[in-house]
Amino acid sequence: MSSPDTLRIPADLLPRDGRFGAGPSKVRAEQMAALAGDASTYMGTSHRQATVRNKVGEVRDGLTSLFTLPDGYEVLLGNGGTTCFWDAATFHLVSEHSQHLSFGEFSSKFASCVKDAPHLSDPDVIKSDVGTHPYATADSSVDLYALTHNETSTGVMMPITRPEGAQGLVAVDATSAAGGLMVDPSQFDVYYFAPQKSFASDGGLWIAICSPAAIQRIETLASSGRWTPAFFDLKIALDNSRLNQTYNTPALATIHLLASQIKWMNDQGGLSFSAGRSRTSAETLYTWAEASDFATPFVQNPAQRSNVIGTIDFRDDVDATLIAKILRANGVVDTEPYRKLGRNQLRIAMFPSIDPEDVASLCASINWIVGNL
Ligand SMILES: *Cc1c(COP(=O)(O)O)cnc(C)c1O
Repeated sequence: MSSPDTLRIPADLLPRDGRFGAGPSKVRAEQMAALAGDASTYMGTSHRQATVRNKVGEVRDGLTSLFTLPDGYEVLLGNGGTTCFWDAATFHLVSEHSQHLSFGEFSSKFASCVKDAPHLSDPDVIKSDVGTHPYATADSSVDLYALTHNETSTGVMMPITRPEGAQGLVAVDATSAAGGLMVDPSQFDVYYFAPQKSFASDGGLWIAICSPAAIQRIETLASSGRWTPAFFDLKIALDNSRLNQTYNTPALATIHLLASQIKWMNDQGGLSFSAGRSRTSAETLYTWAEASDFATPFVQNPAQRSNVIGTIDFRDDVDATLIAKILRANGVVDTEPYRKLGRNQLRIAMFPSIDPEDVASLCASINWIVGNL
């Protein structure tokens, strides 16, 4: 038996790229090269001038194509990431009362923001056990349904559909899902995310695809007299986005990397291409875990197993923490489980940038580690 610290995974088994983190996630080399190529004319230039504004325009147009947005849908963006968008939504998307599906760390957070907002009523929160997802139910007192397309902490995905008979807006946290899972825009009013997951860029920005009904809601609440800090003002964000700008200075590299990733997805065939890459990776991962005698998918229902974030439980006598440590020592990083879930588990991102063959290599590497412990 070898000492774990010195275990060297054979080079022919190792993934070519060792980044499997849930975010910030793998950035493709081509994106970095494109940024470096534009460095002297793009980086360090004004975000109020054409060079950067055209890049923001590329992002907005590219997302319109990628998601085949119907007429009247608009792409808004601003600084502060998804966490900031939750606060903005408490000012300019929830009129009075919201319903939230809560099935893990991220999906519970927006509900907390609403609960703390003194101008809103206490939200309805529908919970389910970790590793599953609950279902929304139409309720005439609800003006916004808060769904999460992929719960990043547990690796559960859910289909996005309007609750039958619902009148309110459907707002979807798609931070880890957007670009990696299929979605039908007619089923949502707001689909919001940040670029550090499937879009293989960096953190700090929020992007929200808004339906005409969502834009109407923003305009109504912005003129309602509700006090709103300018940073969380979605009408200000809307006005700036229409000019391909942000309210305050954005990180230019983040926008450039994001634009490259959207272009790559569109050039290769669009959302069916990018979501297809994640689906192929997921098939590989779950097939391996089901066949393994020491690993098993954490999510019981195969339909709820995420294509973008895989969570794999290990048999009690196989220490997942040790496997993650050995992987890390071999350059395969960020397979540790979500810290608060507290399971003997690995969490593996399968965003579109991640090569499905590298997921297969990761499975082979884990087999090798367990066989050599
Ligand atoms: C990562 C993540 C967030 C947080 O995004 P930030 O940009 O860091 O605020 C929120 N929701 C989900 C589902 C996520 O995966």
